[in-house]
Amino acid sequence: MTTRSSDSFEIDVKCPWCSHQAKKRVGWIRSHCQMECLNCGGIVDIESKNFMPTGVAPPQK
Ligand SMILES: [Zn+2]
Repeated sequence: MTTRSSDSFEIDVKCPWCSHQAKKRVGWIRSHCQMECLNCGGIVDIESKNFMPTGVAPPQK
């Protein structure tokens, strides 16, 4: 499936740790497999695109 035209499409990536949502472009997600949550600092694994709570938990404060 060629979805090059959808690269600029924005989707919400929800942080499994704090439910913070960040808008990310599909093109960005394609070239990244993890995202650092700007709210809690947790690492969100976006490789699976299922946005399951995997990766590194945010640091406890
Ligand atoms: Zn978070």
